[in-house]
Amino acid sequence: MKKSLLLLSLFFAFSTVNAQDVSIDGRLKPFLDDFFALCKEYNIDYHENLFKLKKIAIVQDLQTGPEGSTLGMVQRDANGQVENIVVNWVAMLDQEILKVVAFHEFGHYFLGYDAHVCNDCGIIMSVVNSSYFDIANDWENQITILFQDSPAYKNRNNSLVTTTSVAYPQQ
Ligand SMILES: [Zn+2]
Repeated sequence: MKKSLLLLSLFFAFSTVNAQDVSIDGRLKPFLDDFFALCKEYNIDYHENLFKLKKIAIVQDLQTGPEGSTLGMVQRDANGQVENIVVNWVAMLDQEILKVVAFHEFGHYFLGYDAHVCNDCGIIMSVVNSSYFDIANDWENQITILFQDSPAYKNRNNSLVTTTSVAYPQQ
């Protein structure tokens, strides 16, 4: 009797967790933790978006070849909602590349970058990057650009301004 009760409560525990559980690849988790710590610093809420996802994963089925590889992407469901953030396994060849690619894809989804900022201008949100190492060597500055120029951060500022002007009306 006790055993079946335990099993039952375990079952409920697991089903509750699963209801809002996002599968996060352990190899991307440290980058995601760093990214979320920065979101907190910049006052950008990520929880709601996080729980809409199915998985954040390293995959083997993105285009890879001598002509160029897709290093990462956000994948959408039939309704156009983002469901997965995926990174190409080839990015794992170097931890610095993996970090830049991961932050780029996180930027698309969590910071509201629907478009790229430029084609190849040496920042995290450019279409391609000729040198991932230049970015990695300039990391603090790169993070400031990524967050301060993001749509999510600018929207956050707008709503703060609105709140302030309501709280202190002009006489
Ligand atoms: Zn992109």
